[in-house]
Amino acid sequence: MARIDFLGTGNAFSPQGRMHALALIDNRVLIDAPPTVVTQLRRVGVSPGQLQHILFTHWHGDHSFGFPFLLLDRKFLSDPNGEENLEVHLRPRGRKYLSTLCEMGFPGSLDDSLEGRVNWNEEESAIIGDTGWKYDRFPVHHTPETDPHGYEMEHESGFRLLHCGDSGPCPEIESRADKVDVVILEMGMPDIGDFPHHHRPSDVVSFNERFPEAKVLVTHNYAKSPNSKSGFEIPELPIDIVQLNDGDSIEIDDSGNFTVNN
Ligand SMILES: [Zn+2]
Ligand SMILES: [Zn+2]
Repeated sequence: MARIDFLGTGNAFSPQGRMHALALIDNRVLIDAPPTVVTQLRRVGVSPGQLQHILFTHWHGDHSFGFPFLLLDRKFLSDPNGEENLEVHLRPRGRKYLSTLCEMGFPGSLDDSLEGRVNWNEEESAIIGDTGWKYDRFPVHHTPETDPHGYEMEHESGFRLLHCGDSGPCPEIESRADKVDVVILEMGMPDIGDFPHHHRPSDVVSFNERFPEAKVLVTHNYAKSPNSKSGFEIPELPIDIVQLNDGDSIEIDDSGNFTVNN
């Protein structure tokens, strides 16, 4: 059994009813650390000290500014003796970026955490500890200054997932999409212009038509949540595309079959 929880499903602008997008796998592997990450974990009763791995997709604030708060919690609350391993999976430039972020947020307080309590993993392909998951990281089409990437992941059950990070349509996603069970696409912008670094509803629809075998889940949504009053209206997409909301999840059984709870 494995599960993926979408505690937040909003884009950088915090649309009403949505926290910043992240994915939590088996309560111990995190994809991205948005500013609200600790709040999101507390809501579901998961302690930052339970996290064993963090996979970063790129260096935009809505995906990374929560990292200093995770280290702060672990150092002073959830893992004061430094007994729990935290492996951070990232591109080479990321270690300096995250260290600078921690120094800006909590000057002088997290030096020992950064040096002694984090294992930095810069491999492009890795087995994620003893979680039963492994990944290949791949480049995507997003603001180049953020070194944007996605993760092609496989669970020991055989379940395959493409997490595309933040990206507009791109060949790297297309070349991998027909090998996986689920594709998680961001939909960071509405159809009000050209936004090559994000998917718009029209881009999601055409992707879904090209890859009918893969289940397409939409996150990093620009639109308000279903029960919210103001903000961009939720776009109408074909019924087989799932627009994730905060609290939704995927459950995966031992044979790699999956259920989306939406
Ligand atoms: Zn983003
Ligand atoms: Zn971004």
